[in-house]
Amino acid sequence: MTDIPEANPAVPILVVISGPSGVGKDTVIHELRKLDRPWHFPVTATTRLPRPGEQDGKEYHFLARDEFEKKIQRSEFLEYAEVYGNFYGVPRSEIRDNLKTGKDVVLKIDVQGAATIKKLVPESVLIFLIAESKSALISRLANRQTEELDDLERRISTAETELSRIAEFDYRVINREGDIHDAANTIDSIICAEKARLIPRMAELI
Ligand code: 5GP
Repeated sequence: MTDIPEANPAVPILVVISGPSGVGKDTVIHELRKLDRPWHFPVTATTRLPRPGEQDGKEYHFLARDEFEKKIQRSEFLEYAEVYGNFYGVPRSEIRDNLKTGKDVVLKIDVQGAATIKKLVPESVLIFLIAESKSALISRLANRQTEELDDLERRISTAETELSRIAEFDYRVINREGDIHDAANTIDSIICAEKARLIPRMAELI
């Protein structure tokens, strides 16, 4: 019997998880890791200082500003942006190399970064995380206690601007307080469905 072309292994996809500041992107990523799927979670780079408990190479690659600027000049970032006065950037090689080896890549990034990735890689799958309500989002932002007060106010107003960009995304997933499994399972199902597409999304990087 000849091979059935439609039964070839699914091509790897680039999934972007985003949403307003405070919605719980890190918690959702943590939960997705536990599912133990063959996904790669890139570590992005930043010039901000590590918060207590954060480790270099785990939460971020923590870089000095001049190191970061050198990498910009060498085009080592697929995307980079200045967020709250610090640089953040996605190492191009981590994404390209993992897609090449057949792994799906699940990237966590802020809303402006997600929009840039969609322009650069139109075939990427964009997922927007939202809280169950605006008041829930604000109370999560307030409970983080990692920021000074004026920074918190700035994050609330940024979150409002970010929420208004939901239409640029392919999917929206609700991250309800106390129901993290539901958000992770929904994302798992989305990725599963995307991998079953007859005409796959080919994430080609420039
Ligand atoms: P935080 O300093 O709280 O860890 O992150 C601040 C924001 O920067 C978050 O919304 C986070 O998702 C975003 N961020 C992290 N890495 C990148 C990146 O490589 N590019 C962009 N544009 N945003 C990023």
